[in-house]
Amino acid sequence: MKNVGINGYGTIGKRVADSVACQDDMQIVGVTKRTPDFEAQMAVEKGFPLYISAPEREGLFEEADIKVTGTIDDLYNKVDVMVDCTPGGIGAKNKVIYEEKGIKGIFQGGEKHEQIGKSFNSFANYQDNLGADFVRVVSCNTTGLCRTLKPIDDLCGIKKVRAVMVRRGADPGQIKSGPINAIVPNPPTVPSHHGPDVQTVMYDLNIITMALLVPTTLMHQHNLMVELENPSGVDDVIDTLEATPRVILVEAEKGLGSTAEIMECARDLGRPRSDLFEIAVWKESLNIKDGELFYMQAIHQESDVVPENVDCIRAMLEIEEDPAKSIEKTNKNMGIIG
Ligand code: NAD
Repeated sequence: MKNVGINGYGTIGKRVADSVACQDDMQIVGVTKRTPDFEAQMAVEKGFPLYISAPEREGLFEEADIKVTGTIDDLYNKVDVMVDCTPGGIGAKNKVIYEEKGIKGIFQGGEKHEQIGKSFNSFANYQDNLGADFVRVVSCNTTGLCRTLKPIDDLCGIKKVRAVMVRRGADPGQIKSGPINAIVPNPPTVPSHHGPDVQTVMYDLNIITMALLVPTTLMHQHNLMVELENPSGVDDVIDTLEATPRVILVEAEKGLGSTAEIMECARDLGRPRSDLFEIAVWKESLNIKDGELFYMQAIHQESDVVPENVDCIRAMLEIEEDPAKSIEKTNKNMGIIG
């Protein structure tokens, strides 16, 4: 069993903790919190050893009567890898500490690729990260793009991708982010950073992206236009996506015509936190015209990167060299259907 620590038990951190805990080749030896809130309390109730990431705040945890195992300094020498799930920008600062302590670190999409050095997606470049010390799992949007573009590239070859991303304004638990009544080009410049981010794991892909924020918290939605090298029939694309793990095809005709209905379906699946780890592609949207493939997809931003973090641990600790075997194992243990 490899020992995994989670630094930052928030939206992503708590999900990665649960997903590591249900694997049979790795275990959680500690999670960190800065604030003694309900998430800290629930981590303790779940049996995760809780460490304070800001040791000077120990008194706050005592006042809140939340039992801690120690401070983050006590956790460093217990882990084979620290999965850093702190807010964007903090991970790069923590990397310096992990280097000093001689431990490996996984970072999230809020960090810059250049500051971490390597980026990861299970389908695009697993093997390039075997044994690596510091790796960033690409963002939720980039993960969504890679999950469907990689199998399409393998099937037909891709000349050029143009994609427009409609992004959720905030996560459901965030009360301070917006917009609440606007559509915001974000960024208002073209291209957005998402295309270059895809190129950190699909190195030669010709892709340009645009993005905007809208007042919703449920999911992101992507609109893709993909010029193909060797166009095939749309049925071949459908068969390929149906056979691709962590991708599901949904149909508006069956009541799944919106992000709201897709998340309702995720709730009915009975997953923890109603998560949908799979990328949902609208089957009706798939079309090929003049050698160009069009499709629309939805991304549950809070959870799609979570299985990728588990695979990234296996690659970096060289538990499994074959990406397909890691993906299959992660999926089976997490109950991923697609
Ligand atoms: P979050 O705010 O929900 O959780 C961050 C956690 O880190 C909180 O528990 C917070 O208390 C803790 N924290 C804050 N400052 C800290 C510090 N200095 N040291 C240690 N812990 C600290 O954030 P999140 O949404 O889980 O995002 C984490 C990372 O994952 C970011 O890089 C983000 O860009 C990326 N990401 C987020 C999403 C998403 O939709 N939420 C999706 C994919 C990737």
